[in-house]
Amino acid sequence: MPPYVPSWYADSANAYTPADPLTGDIRCDVLVVGGGYAGLSAALELAERGFDTVLVEARRVGWGASGRNGGQIVGGFAQGPAALDALVGRALTDDLYGLADEAVAMLAERVARFAIACDLRWGYLLLAVKDRQVGELKAYAEELQAYGRPVGPLYDAGAVREHVASRRVRGGLQIGGSGQLHPLNFALGLADAARSAGVRLYEGTPVDGMVEGPPAVAVTPGGRITAGFVALAGNAYLPGLTPAIASRVLPRVMPTGTFMLATEPLGESRASALMPSRQAAADINFVLNYFRLSPDHRLLFGGGVSYSTAQRDAHRRALHRQMLAYFPGLDDVAVSHFWGGHVGITINRFPDFGRVAPHILYAQGFSGQGVALTGLAGRLLAEAIAGTAGRFDLMARIPHRPFPGGRTLRMPALVLAMLWYRLRDLL
Ligand SMILES: Cc1cc2nc3c(=O)[nH]c(=O)nc-3n(C[C@H](O)[C@H](O)[C@H](O)COP(=O)(O)OP(=O)(O)OC[C@H]3O[C@@H](n4cnc5c(N)ncnc54)[C@H](O)[C@@H]3O)c2cc1C
Repeated sequence: MPPYVPSWYADSANAYTPADPLTGDIRCDVLVVGGGYAGLSAALELAERGFDTVLVEARRVGWGASGRNGGQIVGGFAQGPAALDALVGRALTDDLYGLADEAVAMLAERVARFAIACDLRWGYLLLAVKDRQVGELKAYAEELQAYGRPVGPLYDAGAVREHVASRRVRGGLQIGGSGQLHPLNFALGLADAARSAGVRLYEGTPVDGMVEGPPAVAVTPGGRITAGFVALAGNAYLPGLTPAIASRVLPRVMPTGTFMLATEPLGESRASALMPSRQAAADINFVLNYFRLSPDHRLLFGGGVSYSTAQRDAHRRALHRQMLAYFPGLDDVAVSHFWGGHVGITINRFPDFGRVAPHILYAQGFSGQGVALTGLAGRLLAEAIAGTAGRFDLMARIPHRPFPGGRTLRMPALVLAMLWYRLRDLL
């Protein structure tokens, strides 16, 4: 079985029995491609609705972004309500925010219902790290209020440093309905729940190609799967399985690398001195940093953006420097783990839901904010396959464009854009 990328999450994963790869030809009602949160959630919801469901994961459950992320549960979307309003109008914005609220509620409900041991904890702060960002946070709080969103208190430098003891921080905004969890353990818990619900799970089973059908026929190294419906949940890792997927689905997301590190354990008092309320936190730079404490008192610190996740020393050094800019007192602490993964980013940074054909649906492009939204994506995929597509189609009404430059030039275009935003963050 392919291993997980080395990370603190892989080293602290709960016991889990991997599923065997597929051998032989099989049939099912629905094939789900991808064993991240979106695919696991879709499979679970489908099995609970009585569908004979097969989920195939190329490597291991949670091998992709779902097992490597910052573990920050953030309500809403990667962009605020005004940006969504500009795209789809006020009424649909309110409906879509209702769905985003459901995403957080269903995450909490699943952790409780399936007793998933994933260190779920609530509390989340957005941070200003430049004077002008104090005003931006205030404006964001007003924007949220104008859209009827719950807004926590705004903190000045003194008050926010009671939560994040860093001289870098100039202000903060408490965001409701947000928190943190152990991402890989959450994925493994969802996988166990899906298997208990009757999902036939195959790990180490990449779909290498597909005949659209209907029925669709997916080709894997060990056998073929014939399915009435397909839910594509490969996100930033999905290959062009059919010409339509390659030409219409993939160009709408940019697989973008981002990185995390974990320090050696700091001990409880030193860790709590850094983040006394132990809430998750992220700054509002375009190329942001996000961080939190682990239950064994490490600092888990993420950020950076790259068109390659090759774990080059340069990325590790840059992220370490960013961590020390927040917490210079950690200069005597070793970094025990460093890893990277791909997020699927859309141009407008709202998720992209759609259909390749009436029986082949997809959900992708959570734009770095998928821990909660992917669960909802799975539910909406299942609803649509079960014949009630209304809520899936609400999401699908968010307009998306392909990245300029097509498949070959979209990456250099993104790199240039990111350089520009990084420069702006630095100034
Ligand atoms: C370093 C990092 C930090 C992040 N931090 C946060 C955060 O703090 N908060 C937040 O909300 N979001 C965060 N994200 C984003 C979040 O992790 C993703 O939005 C979410 O996990 C996406 O889930 P998914 O199921 O769509 O995709 P993934 O978890 O990437 O799963 C896709 C899976 O599909 C499989 N697959 C692809 N193609 C095939 C195929 N042909 N056959 C079989 N299997 C296939 C892949 O192997 C993969 O396991 C972060 C992401 C990264 C990488």
